[in-house]
Amino acid sequence: MKKQILVLTCLLVIAQLASAQKIVNRDSLAATLEVWVNVPVVTPGLSNADAPSDATILYNGHGLGAFQKRDDSPAGWKIDADGAVTDIKGAGDLITKEAFGSCQLHLEFREPAEVKGNGQARGNSGVYIMGKYEIQVLDSYNNPTYSNGQAGAVYKQHVPLVNASRKPGEWQSYDIVFTAPQFKENGDLLSPARVTVIHNGVLIQNNVTILGPTDWVTKPKYEKHASKLPLMLQDHGDDGNPISYRNIWIRNL
Ligand code: MG
Repeated sequence: MKKQILVLTCLLVIAQLASAQKIVNRDSLAATLEVWVNVPVVTPGLSNADAPSDATILYNGHGLGAFQKRDDSPAGWKIDADGAVTDIKGAGDLITKEAFGSCQLHLEFREPAEVKGNGQARGNSGVYIMGKYEIQVLDSYNNPTYSNGQAGAVYKQHVPLVNASRKPGEWQSYDIVFTAPQFKENGDLLSPARVTVIHNGVLIQNNVTILGPTDWVTKPKYEKHASKLPLMLQDHGDDGNPISYRNIWIRNL
């Protein structure tokens, strides 16, 4: 009898050991799927519009030092008492001094409260990522125009999924995630640019493929360019477009 109890005890111990070993094996297998890298800690802003701690602030109401004109002279847009920066006729495009590639970009824009013009002539500006790829800025509140030219369009390439425009005179936001194109040594395209756009909190471009630099007249075609280039805010150059911007920040990806 004693012998039988001893055998049973041994079997029980062996079974427990085997079970414990199984757990150890499963745990070590699970551990092979774990990734341990240093993920930087970023303090988010109090609202999604506030710049996080690792963003480059391009404009926050205090001077246009991050921008210049195309000829490298000081940017000529007007800073208003409320902190907005407004395009004035003939002031030219706003171009960042710093160059950026793949990025996350936040900005806010306001279409003129006094509505003038129609279609493309109403509040036209644009966010030219890398100075080449335009996300259209337009007053698209009750303002029909070609769909791939309305607010939030990848101009002449992708129609926005919806029209999320607010009324003229109200602040609106774009949150843009952009993947820069890559080129081979010989200049051929390796991978096209891609972009996601959120307009006033609404997804309007979902990781679409950019076909090439924005062109008003001809089909887009890639040409090899630097991996980082300045961001540009368009001065459309006609009357009726005193468009304003504020709270512009960007994060390199
Ligand atoms: Mg435009």
